[in-house]
Amino acid sequence: MELVFATNNKHKLEELQAILGDQFKLLSLNDIGCNEEIPEEQETLEGNASQKSFFVYEKYGYNCFADDTGLEIEALNGEPGVYSARYAGEEKSAEANMNKVLEKLTKINNRNARFRTVISLIINGREKQFEGIVEGAILEEKKGDSGFGYDPIFQPTDFQLSFAEMPLSEKNKISHRGRAVQKLVSYLKSHEIEK
Ligand code: IMP
Repeated sequence: MELVFATNNKHKLEELQAILGDQFKLLSLNDIGCNEEIPEEQETLEGNASQKSFFVYEKYGYNCFADDTGLEIEALNGEPGVYSARYAGEEKSAEANMNKVLEKLTKINNRNARFRTVISLIINGREKQFEGIVEGAILEEKKGDSGFGYDPIFQPTDFQLSFAEMPLSEKNKISHRGRAVQKLVSYLKSHEIEK
């Protein structure tokens, strides 16, 4: 079965293709000639993931899935959440976003936070969603320089390293996205869907 992953991130695509094996052929947005900006106008991760996957399904006619991720900080009532990429402005600067979080949490003791990923899968017009969560805490300052986004200020529970100090293979095992993808893959590999 051909399945579109609503992304042009080659690395994400190859990684997933390797897990799925040849039962599924993953296609990127480029592969199906979709070069337009896909709307993400909803106020929840669920809404955005859904909007993206339905957009591709309805306009291009492919079964597909899309993901959306946010950092949810308890003391900030779930902010930045769906606005994680552009928390400090439309230039989407990871440095500025982290600085804004650290500033807002100055003198706040509750550092609890989590990353949450929602994947929306559309098969023959029917949607199924998968959620992945990793709980942790926002550090007092940035630590480490691998990864991306908020990795230097996020330390997962039961670990002494920030996400930006972990090897990618370790991060993938416990990350929000890793967990959501594991659920997607076991669903796709199960017999619940028509192949
Ligand atoms: P997206 O939905 O995967 O594009 O993620 C939205 C935003 O959340 C990104 O621009 C990052 O700021 C943040 N983000 C998502 N995943 C991660 C992660 O694994 N580490 C750090 N930040 C992340």
